[in-house]
Amino acid sequence: MPPSPREPREPREPIIYCARCNANTPTRDPEIITMRNGMPATIGYCVRCGTRKFHQGVGR
Ligand SMILES: [Zn+2]
Repeated sequence: MPPSPREPREPREPIIYCARCNANTPTRDPEIITMRNGMPATIGYCVRCGTRKFHQGVGR
């Protein structure tokens, strides 16, 4: 059994506010991106309605 690689601090389904659900919902396929100003952001899709979400910052 290979040693498990260190997982980055990245929740699988970070809770991000969804404008469509008007609530904080888990996020499917989250991806950490870096914006032009160098700040990290999280993008993904709402598990409830599938709307694309954008959250400035990483994780919560
Ligand atoms: Zn939603």
